[in-house]
Amino acid sequence: MAIMWLNLKDIIEIPGGEVSFECELDTQALFFPALVRFIDAPRASGRVVNTAGVLTLLGELKAKVLCRCDRCGREFESEKTLSLNVPLSADMDGESNDAEVFPLDGDGIDLNEMLAAVFILSIDSKLLCSDDCKGLCPACGKNLNDGPCACTKPVDPRLAVLGQLLDIDEDK
Ligand SMILES: [Zn+2]
Ligand SMILES: [Zn+2]
Repeated sequence: MAIMWLNLKDIIEIPGGEVSFECELDTQALFFPALVRFIDAPRASGRVVNTAGVLTLLGELKAKVLCRCDRCGREFESEKTLSLNVPLSADMDGESNDAEVFPLDGDGIDLNEMLAAVFILSIDSKLLCSDDCKGLCPACGKNLNDGPCACTKPVDPRLAVLGQLLDIDEDK
């Protein structure tokens, strides 16, 4: 993954100092299970400020992605806007296990690495094309968002899941 170095040397020791940044993330290393492709590469802009000796990265990250619905499998566009507020730590002793704090690498940070981590953490584990996605008919596989299927007896999705579990047990 390409390095996008933000040098913070000039503000590390200067309370009140700030450095601004603007970048486009390298999408090659950005992956999450529902991702089909990036429509627009994630772009971030903002600044790192030194507030009473503590560095914080503030800004916004925007991305437009094509995702696959976790329930019905349909592809859909999703636009993400994250507001960034990430404390940076110069603490190199390794004692801090606080995942919310991003460690400095010497006197700077790799924006690409850091923002990629923030972006991936922000992705829900299950992405749906809509909050009330109806999913697929467990009997015929039709996408029920397009309307009801021809199955005479609609199967309760909860029972269908139970049925699958029972099938698996029987196979053992
Ligand atoms: Zn769906
Ligand atoms: Zn059906």
